[in-house]
Amino acid sequence: MTGTAEEGAAGRAAWTAARRIVVKIGSALLVDSGSGRIRSTWLNSLADDVAELQHADRQVVLVSSGAIALGRHIMKLPRGPLQLEQSQAAAAVGQITLAHSYQELFKARGLTTAQVLLTLGDTEERRRYLNARRTVDTLLAHGAIPVVNENDTVATSEIRYGDNDRLSARVASMISAECLVLLSDVDGLYTRPPGSCPDARRLDVVREITPEIEAMAGDAGTELSRGGMRTKVEAGRIALAAGTDMVIASGKVLHPLRALAEGAPCTWFLAPSDPVTAKKRWIAGQLEPRGALQIDAGAERALVAGKSLLPAGVTRVEGRFDRGDAVIIRGSGGREIGRGLVAYARDEAERIIGRKSSEIAAVLGHEGRSELVHRDDMALNRK
Ligand code: GLU
Repeated sequence: MTGTAEEGAAGRAAWTAARRIVVKIGSALLVDSGSGRIRSTWLNSLADDVAELQHADRQVVLVSSGAIALGRHIMKLPRGPLQLEQSQAAAAVGQITLAHSYQELFKARGLTTAQVLLTLGDTEERRRYLNARRTVDTLLAHGAIPVVNENDTVATSEIRYGDNDRLSARVASMISAECLVLLSDVDGLYTRPPGSCPDARRLDVVREITPEIEAMAGDAGTELSRGGMRTKVEAGRIALAAGTDMVIASGKVLHPLRALAEGAPCTWFLAPSDPVTAKKRWIAGQLEPRGALQIDAGAERALVAGKSLLPAGVTRVEGRFDRGDAVIIRGSGGREIGRGLVAYARDEAERIIGRKSSEIAAVLGHEGRSELVHRDDMALNRK
């Protein structure tokens, strides 16, 4: 499970191969607990690392906490636990400062910053998930750096993550990132609490979230584990299922991403497959199809060649599906050739099939996606 040079090399290989990387930055790293201000030397060093990655053609998405920690200081709220509406108000105040800091930092490095605020539903509900993903894809394609946080101002307890560990794992899974970096105040997962147990040992690699690994993260009930290792291990579970490798590394050093690349101590959670394979498996095997699309021979050839399914190539729709549902794609003779997530609900799909994508807006009376099923949301059967 841990320790060998080979295992360490597997982690470094995962980092080198990752093109799309999500980096989660916790409040404790970002905000000085005494002054309540942003730790700007550290954040500058992180921005250098991000710019370096960006110049090497790697895409970086930041998931940054800190809104509440900054806002409560600006609003002079008392220390100690806040009421829900107080933290929501603090988040509203702090988020502007947070976004502004990132904007300034990246502007100084010639980069554009984009603010993305998500709630639980945006990453859980497939309909909204497709939207959020396309937006982030588009930002990345334009070289912008998305800075994501939970939309704390509107998220109440039932619809809230509450921690950015799991949020960042959902984001990584949503955008099929190869790697998720959790920058933390500890440099990995230990067999026992490292603060109080001298024989605690850091794991180099975790390949599966076993009950033993869960036990190392501590119980849900203990004060120490809250928002600590437990949510990180839960993030690991989400990441591994999505084919995303995850690493818990120390953010207590300057240039933490450079340090990671240079082999700083950390714990890698290595996924058994890559994000594309994991997603195709999910689409093909785990979703109940709600309908079917019959396509023509031209569209079938296009799909086999790796293209998306356009409305023009569809001859018939069946079933009652909503946007984001899984549907069966049928080729000649009604044979199932694959499955995919459909970008339109049944009633709209029916109206646009056989039409050119340029006609969609005129037919529906509003803009829509050009594809009925995007190739990234499709799993074709093997021949
Ligand atoms: N979304 C919260 C904030 O920005 C932080 C959640 C967390 O620390 O994990 O303040």
